[in-house]
Amino acid sequence: MAHDVVLIPGDGIGPEITSAMRRVVDASGVDIAWNVVDAGAGVMDEFGTPLPEHVLDAIRSTKVAIKGPITTPVGTGFRSVNVALRREFDLYSCVRPCLSMPGDGSRYTDIDLVIVRENTEDLYAGIEFDEGAPEVAELSQLIEASGQKTFKPDSAISVKPISVSGSRRIVEYAFEYARRCGRHKVTAVHKANIMKASDGLFLRVAREVAERYPDIEFNDKIVDATCMGLVQDPYAFDVLVLPNLYGDIVSDLAAGLVGGLGMAPGANIGRDIAIFEATHGSAPDIAGKDIANPTAEILSACMMLDHLGEGVAATRIREAVKKTLAAGESVTGDVRRAQTGSTEGCVGTQAFADAVIA
Ligand code: NAD
Repeated sequence: MAHDVVLIPGDGIGPEITSAMRRVVDASGVDIAWNVVDAGAGVMDEFGTPLPEHVLDAIRSTKVAIKGPITTPVGTGFRSVNVALRREFDLYSCVRPCLSMPGDGSRYTDIDLVIVRENTEDLYAGIEFDEGAPEVAELSQLIEASGQKTFKPDSAISVKPISVSGSRRIVEYAFEYARRCGRHKVTAVHKANIMKASDGLFLRVAREVAERYPDIEFNDKIVDATCMGLVQDPYAFDVLVLPNLYGDIVSDLAAGLVGGLGMAPGANIGRDIAIFEATHGSAPDIAGKDIANPTAEILSACMMLDHLGEGVAATRIREAVKKTLAAGESVTGDVRRAQTGSTEGCVGTQAFADAVIA
C-alpha cells in the first residue's frame, strides 16, 4: 500500500531540491502517494495567510510531511511558517544528524554527531513586544517591583520561556535516541552560568533525566565553549541536546563540519506527526538557477523513509548519495568549491539527482 505523504515544495530553492528529492525517492521503488500543497508568501493573496488551514488538515490526515524551505521576512511581516508548523503539531524534537561522507568537501573526516534541538519554546516562542508597546513599560514596572534592575525604556523585548516539562521531554528524547541508535554520550548545551533561571532549569532537568540512563555517558557544556569545541575537536561529541535557539545556531555550525548546509538533513518529530526538512533555508541567492545541492533534502527523505518503516530503501539511497559524492564527477557547486576553490566541472541540482538515481 502506498504511503500518504504531504509534500510542501516551499520557495527559493525549495521547488528545485524537493523535485530532485522526489525523483530519487520514487526511483527507490517505495510507493508514495504525494499530496503536494503550497505554503508561504506565494499563497498569501489567495488564502490571506501563509499557512492555510487545508495544509494543516492535509498533514493532520497523513501524519507525515516533507517540506522545502520557506522564506520568512526579516524584522517585519508574517511570522515563520516553519516555526508555526512545529508549534501547531507540537513537533518538539528537531533531530539533525551530521555525518561525514567521503567527497563532501569538508576539511573534517569521520564526523558522526547528532543535534537534538528543542523545537517549541525558548526565544523562538515568538512572545515579543516592540519598542514603545505599553507592555514594555508594564514589564519594566514589574521587574522593578521584583527588586531587579530594569532595562532601558526604548527597549524591545523578547521573552525566553523554558519549562520543566519541555526540557524533560527533549532530554528524554535525546537519551532514548542515543539508546536506540547505539550512541554512547549525551551533552546538554546551555548558558546556565548567565541565564541561571531559564538555562539553569534546562541544565537541572537534564541532570535529573541523565540519572535514569546510567548506560549513556552524560556531560554538559556552555554553548560558547561548545562552539569552540566543535571546531577544534568535533570527535569529542556524540549526541548534543540544546534549547531551541542554541540548537538553531549550533546546527548550522555542525553542518559546516560535514560540507555545509547543502549536506545537513533534519526531522521535526512530535508524538504522532513528523515533518522532515533540510537544516538550511530558502537560499534566495542561488534560487531558480539549478545549482542548489539537494543532498540535505534527499537525506531528510531518507530519515522519512526510516520513519515510514522503509529502512532498506533509505539505506540504498544513502549509499547512492555516498557513492555519487565519493566518485566526485557529479557534485554540485558548493561541494566542488569546497574541494577545489572553484565550481569548475560541477553539475546542477537535477543532474546530481540523476547521478544518485543511476
Ligand atoms: P540559508 O540556509 O537559506 O542560506 C545560507 C547560505 O547557504 C547561502 O549562501 C545559501 O546559498 C547556502 N545554501 C543553503 N542551502 C544550500 C543548498 N542546498 N545548496 C547550496 N547552498 C546552500 O539561510 P538564509 O539565507 O539566512 O535564509 C534564507 C531564508 O530561509 C530566510 O527567509 C530564512 O528565514 C529562511 N529559513 C527557512 C528555514 C526553513 O524553511 N526551515 C530554515 C532556515 C532559514
